[in-house]
Amino acid sequence: MISDFFSKGGALQSKLLNFRARPAQIKMAQAIESAINLDETLIIEAQTGTGKTFAYLAPVLLSFAKGTLQKIIISTGSKTLQNQLFNKDLPVLIDACNFVGTVTLLKGRSNYLCNERLNRFMLESKNKEKSIQIELVKIKNWSIYTKTGDISEMQSLPEDAFIIPLITSTNDNCLGRDCPSFDDCFIVKARKKAMDSDLIVINHNLFFADLALKETGFAELIPNASVYIFDEAHQLPDIACEYFGESVSTRQFIELTKDIDFVYRTELKEAKQMAKATEQLRLSVLDFRLSFAIEKGTGSWREKSTDKMIQLHLQRLFQVIDFLIDVICERLGKSELLNHCFERLNKFNLLLKKLNSIDTVGYSSWYDCTKQHVSLNITPLCVAGRFQLACEKKSATWIYTSATLSVKGQFEHFTSQLGLERSKCMQLDSPFNYAKQSLFVVPRFIPEPSTPGLCDFLIKQLSPVICSNKGRCFFLCTSHAMMNQLAVGFKRTLTLPVLLQGEKSKQALIDEFICHGNSLLVATSSFWEGVDVPGQTLSCVIIDKLPFGSPDESLLKARIEDAYLKGLSPFFDVQLPQAVINFKQGVGRLIRTEKDKGVLIVCDTRLVTRKYGHLFLNSLPSMPRTRSLEKAIDFLQNIK
Ligand code: SF4
Repeated sequence: MISDFFSKGGALQSKLLNFRARPAQIKMAQAIESAINLDETLIIEAQTGTGKTFAYLAPVLLSFAKGTLQKIIISTGSKTLQNQLFNKDLPVLIDACNFVGTVTLLKGRSNYLCNERLNRFMLESKNKEKSIQIELVKIKNWSIYTKTGDISEMQSLPEDAFIIPLITSTNDNCLGRDCPSFDDCFIVKARKKAMDSDLIVINHNLFFADLALKETGFAELIPNASVYIFDEAHQLPDIACEYFGESVSTRQFIELTKDIDFVYRTELKEAKQMAKATEQLRLSVLDFRLSFAIEKGTGSWREKSTDKMIQLHLQRLFQVIDFLIDVICERLGKSELLNHCFERLNKFNLLLKKLNSIDTVGYSSWYDCTKQHVSLNITPLCVAGRFQLACEKKSATWIYTSATLSVKGQFEHFTSQLGLERSKCMQLDSPFNYAKQSLFVVPRFIPEPSTPGLCDFLIKQLSPVICSNKGRCFFLCTSHAMMNQLAVGFKRTLTLPVLLQGEKSKQALIDEFICHGNSLLVATSSFWEGVDVPGQTLSCVIIDKLPFGSPDESLLKARIEDAYLKGLSPFFDVQLPQAVINFKQGVGRLIRTEKDKGVLIVCDTRLVTRKYGHLFLNSLPSMPRTRSLEKAIDFLQNIK
């Protein structure tokens, strides 16, 4: 029985002396064991502190040992979680379960060194700055002894180092079987190892990249398995939309021109006309970006495509592409890299033509401008049918788990997005005593969101709370504008350290926050989830307003269109439940262990003045509530 494994004196405790099973953890493990035996689909909401990783690992590893399962795929929401699962939790459970199968960690392509691109970049960088050359030599030396080619092994290389995209590959620029470095390719080796393994740890992006590839009928990245477990499953609907959609960006064209230029400078120096046509393409791509005449932003391509200037530049771009295709055609077969560039150019050309057409039914067409680039995209209005079909093709057990799947105890929002309406759903109680460990404040007299001067008001009202708690606070905002204004204001008024999202990488900011022990961190979206600061270092979480998505955001726009078509209410059936899920994620940053205590402050009176406020309130654990900031200060000062 699985409960014996978790019980006092059981197999797990014999390996982890301090281990104490929680009732919700055993319940979850039992439910997964039963789902495996019955080949069911199970959706489980398990709160922070349940110990859900052990709760799903134990039944799958033990079932494998019994021969009930063949291959196991576990998918997490991010690389950080993937690493943590593979390096920390999995080894303990493998040991405790006597699991003898083979295990692999498989990441997306951008995590592995591409030997071919490294060699090429080294050639190109002979005249570049010394610091770049030193970095490249370090990478080259590491490439000789690394077994995996996983660039996270090079700890001296920051996650956001500009050099990384230059030494890793994309689907576009990988030469595949034509690559001279194919036999030593780290990605090929990693994928082969994954294919032969019994348990593979992947992330959601990789899972959908594999589904998208399988739909084309060409290849596969991961093998079929008898059980699929998705941790942080609340992220799946958004990622699915991304992968079932299509997109092409001016960045891809610019990268392509660089590669053709490389062929000209190294292999085909006499191809002057090709160099000129490539330069024309580069300029034409830049002109197309400039024709949008905005700094950055997203919007409807249906509306924007009627702009005469934009269409003029787009038609010019098509002409230039056609000319370059003709020019390269004459040199095909003279260089592997050029052959590959030719394929890419044709592919981008077709995609651009497809995305320019606004008549594709069932999709939302949109553009996204950054400072330097613009992309055209189509996103399916609904992915439920395709996702369900893809799952049905695999006869397997499917487990979806996260701390935030339900809205007021109901799972419809999640299940309808993925076509999982007929699945079994389960909600587990939190192991924390929120009544004693927390206090929830919606301060009195806060103006409605978007009221002019709100930012100054918040700084004035909340500074005493932050100071009395000696920092140890996250201020989670719903927009970059509010985040930046608050950070400026708090830096001016507070004497304690104020950290701001974007000043450093996410991990560096979290490390600094913990190291200071008295900081205020002002952040937005990326800190609402996947951040774990246990203990009293983080004992106050402030949220500026309810996290409703902007109706301008492309994915939300697509879902709103879909709701209209189905006769549903875009606000009540789409925006509201999504905001509740996001809200629960933000709130989840506060209490991370049974010993944590803290205050949650939400500066949005709509929680108590609007009818829908109860949906947010009833989706939270039962925290004592107050409207008084003085009580918040008392609570914080009484934390030992
Ligand atoms: S096969 Fe692709 S990823 Fe591998 S080394 Fe060659 S270009 Fe790089």
